[in-house]
Amino acid sequence: MSLVFESMTMSKLTGSKKATQFTESVIREMTRLNHQYGGVNLSQGFPDFPAPQAIKDAACAAINADVNQYAVTWGAPPLREAIARQFTARYGLEIVADEQVTVCCGTTEAMMATMMAIVDPGDEVVVFEPFYENYGPDAILSGATPRYVTLHAPAWSFDPDELAAAFKEKTKAIIINKPNNPTGKVFTRDELEMIAMLCRKWDAIAISDEIYEHIIYDGHQHIPIATLEGMADRTVTLNGLSKTYSVTGWRVGWTISPPSLTGAIRKVHDFLTVGAPAPLQEAGAVALGFPEEYYTGLAAHYQTRRDALVEILERHHFTTYKPSGAYYIMTDISVFGFADDVEFARYLVKEVGVAAVPGSSFYKSGAGRTKLRFCFCKRDETLQEADRRLLKLVPAGATLH
Ligand code: GLN
Repeated sequence: MSLVFESMTMSKLTGSKKATQFTESVIREMTRLNHQYGGVNLSQGFPDFPAPQAIKDAACAAINADVNQYAVTWGAPPLREAIARQFTARYGLEIVADEQVTVCCGTTEAMMATMMAIVDPGDEVVVFEPFYENYGPDAILSGATPRYVTLHAPAWSFDPDELAAAFKEKTKAIIINKPNNPTGKVFTRDELEMIAMLCRKWDAIAISDEIYEHIIYDGHQHIPIATLEGMADRTVTLNGLSKTYSVTGWRVGWTISPPSLTGAIRKVHDFLTVGAPAPLQEAGAVALGFPEEYYTGLAAHYQTRRDALVEILERHHFTTYKPSGAYYIMTDISVFGFADDVEFARYLVKEVGVAAVPGSSFYKSGAGRTKLRFCFCKRDETLQEADRRLLKLVPAGATLH
């Protein structure tokens, strides 16, 4: 007797339902398109200048000293201790490396490990919109239901009533990113107090992505939400080497969590990746000891580039929202008369030779269709070349002379 499964009409050779719910990263896609068309890449946020010599030397020394096998899964002790030491020295909050710090493969993995460690399917997570692209898929993969709260241009402020209404019994966490990607917003102490009050009221966790901690302008101060009253026990702070030391390809990030959450984060992290690259963790420990001038120099260097790119973009008819931190500029593109942001971004990379990220990558609602994000973590020559190429761009209705 032969077994024929005639009723089997649906193929199983498909991706999971989860994987169909999000697209590939538009940020990374823009970099690929940029390679294809030979453009100036102002899309994906990575520096096109060298990393500091001291961090590169420390990495080479670690490899030559044969630090080439797995580090402890939750992070090499010198790096974990340096992370705890630096946070305590800067912000006065005691951090115990052994109980609170977990090193991951980039802050991207730190966020995913944290979400998977603390969220159950059906739990709600509050997310400010616009948001960093990854948070959407992070929510889907961890089973979270996102609740969006709008940041309103031009100041990217939120309505306190809207935020309060987003919190309820099912709220497990809120994701905060400050300084913020893509808007450059630096949340004020009052705004953070309001968020903290809601976290305490609803017994929710603050997941605070602080990767742009040191990239902050115009005298703004970075305030980790973990340092606000009652928040140390309910905040997971995320950070990494990528942006502070211009080593985005190294993939070294970390979480600082209350001891009650560290075990869950470490287990998820261990089975996701085992551990971050061992020699690069050694180099990270050295970098975290750089003198204060390094950090003030970094912010000053980026502030000059911010001002340069704002001026270039305004001259080429973009409406810009000047960022207070991070290294992106959100712009309004309505004046160019394109159907939407994706069509405009494609035109820009293909015909003008400048890559940027369509605003819709940062929105669940349609509000991103008139926006485009540029990054300025680039050499002067790169920004000048973008300036030259943007001459080709004219607002709708205008004529070329
Ligand atoms: N954070 C950077 C950006 O927003 C890079 C993202 C990535 O590709 N990991 O562009």
